[in-house]
Amino acid sequence: MITENLQSINRRIENACKKVGRDPLEVKILLATKTVPADRILLALEAGYQLIGENKVQELSQKYKALQASQPTHHFIGHLQTNKIKDLLKYDIDCIQSIDRFELAYKLHQRLQAQSKTMRILIQVNTSGEESKFGVAPGHTIALIEQISTLHTLQIKGLMTIGLFSTDEKKIRSCFRLLKKIQTEVRGLHIPRVEMAELSMGMSGDLEVAIEEGATIIRIGTAVFGKRNYPDAFYWNESAPVL
Ligand SMILES: *Cc1c(COP(=O)(O)O)cnc(C)c1O
Repeated sequence: MITENLQSINRRIENACKKVGRDPLEVKILLATKTVPADRILLALEAGYQLIGENKVQELSQKYKALQASQPTHHFIGHLQTNKIKDLLKYDIDCIQSIDRFELAYKLHQRLQAQSKTMRILIQVNTSGEESKFGVAPGHTIALIEQISTLHTLQIKGLMTIGLFSTDEKKIRSCFRLLKKIQTEVRGLHIPRVEMAELSMGMSGDLEVAIEEGATIIRIGTAVFGKRNYPDAFYWNESAPVL
């Protein structure tokens, strides 16, 4: 099932790319593996998909060892609390996609510095304006990037967003367009050490729209692994009831 699902995702990527004249090789698939047990993630890794993302440090730690033999590339895509930074850095993380405030970046920097390490990061932007979504407000993004760019352990590689949950494609598209617009603005500023190569946007339901608007990383969960048992609010909103 998982391999068929991945094939169907690839077809969707190809069709979306064709529509706007993009090369499908520009679009990386990140497997969003929250709630998915390690043995099922392994099926996707064995099929040749290496890029995976967890939302919670605890879940990462539970599955990390079981996946190591398949050498996945780990991104962290969930809301990160400052008191979890230390635990997160015990693992080999290629990129943290969810940096959305200076306090978090600064504490991460201090820990990295103490360990003589660096970290690739994306800046998460709240393009939908929904209170339940994390991310820096669009209007504050450039100031945050300028501030974080002074922290030499952090390498800003681009932007991440979660689009509006809506059946109105126009509204979803405007979220992704906004992220692209911020990327273009930041590029124009030529801030030292800041790269804006990556746009991480698009999930199972809206990957086509995201690719049409310039996504370089799409984060796919349910379309590969099936429906989750937990509501997404469990991952996206700390005030949500703990199940
Ligand atoms: C769960 C999750 C995804 C994937 O969502 P699906 O709709 O299952 O594809 C993408 N990004 C983030 C940040 C997530 O938490």
